[in-house]
Amino acid sequence: MSHLAVIGLGIMGLPMARNLVAAGHVVVGYDHGDARMAALEEGGGRRAASIAEAVAGADVVITMLPDSPQVEEVVLGPGGVLEHATAGVIHIDMSSIRPDVAVRVAQECRARGLRPLDAPVSGGERGAIDGTLSIMLGGEDADVAEVRPLLEAVGRTIVHVGPNGSGQTVKAANQLIVGGTIQLVAEAIVFLEAYGVDTQAAVEVLAGGLAGNRILDLKAQGMLDREFAPGFRIDLHHKDLGIVTSAAREAGVAIPVGALVAQLMGSARANGDGGLDHSALLRGVERMSGRELR
Ligand code: NAD
Repeated sequence: MSHLAVIGLGIMGLPMARNLVAAGHVVVGYDHGDARMAALEEGGGRRAASIAEAVAGADVVITMLPDSPQVEEVVLGPGGVLEHATAGVIHIDMSSIRPDVAVRVAQECRARGLRPLDAPVSGGERGAIDGTLSIMLGGEDADVAEVRPLLEAVGRTIVHVGPNGSGQTVKAANQLIVGGTIQLVAEAIVFLEAYGVDTQAAVEVLAGGLAGNRILDLKAQGMLDREFAPGFRIDLHHKDLGIVTSAAREAGVAIPVGALVAQLMGSARANGDGGLDHSALLRGVERMSGRELR
């Protein structure tokens, strides 16, 4: 049993924190949003009035924040984790951020005696609620071994992929695959609807063949129903495709399909869909096809 600080109690951080409480850990949460902390208290956690209060006495500090600037602010900024965590504390950043920022944050943590890990996740809100996330860990072997039992409360597939920053690189690849797959499933659905076929039947048979994939399994029904409550917001996937396109460019790797999907994600955002689930890429296909948005 550990004493944990969890900073960032959003769509992902809150259910993850609640699962850590359920696993018997002491969890002290901090978030800008009061309602998020109230929800953690309902789940048996404790709220903190500041990062300093959350981190006081914690063996492990988890951050689950939107993007690189928030992680830099919360960890490195004034009043942040580095100022208040004691040497030996493990910091696990589970947000999806730029790999180069993850490396820099880890270096600064290590210089202050902390033990940093990057541990972005895949599996969406459902995976966070069910405790079945995939977790991609970057960091030292010993630190990974120490946190593995704790992470088993939130994830099912927990893989150490390399040194600090590697988890974020793998997550960027994950977002490339997920974004591209959603776009193709969306195009297939609008195509099927244009021909008036039974889309339920079509999705069922497609899911059983070589075209089968997790997006069809988890997102196709919502797309058919035009149910786009997030889930994973287009704004966040836009951020992730920015990360992967720039990281690929720096590495000299061409990702033409990924770059196109990044443009389509940006277009969805520009059309006012940034707050919708990423499966709302389907609306972009409808717009481009001159079809009525439902
Ligand atoms: P979210 O916007 O729902 O949650 C972020 C939380 O951080 C919010 O509650 C916000 O109030 C809080 N916050 C922001 N800045 C803060 C600060 N300075 N101090 C304290 N709290 C602060 O986002 P989310 O969907 O939970 O995603 C979190 C991270 O996980 C992102 O990097 C995202 O890309 C990644 N992710 C999300 C999903 C998903 O399906 N939602 C899946 C995998 C990975």
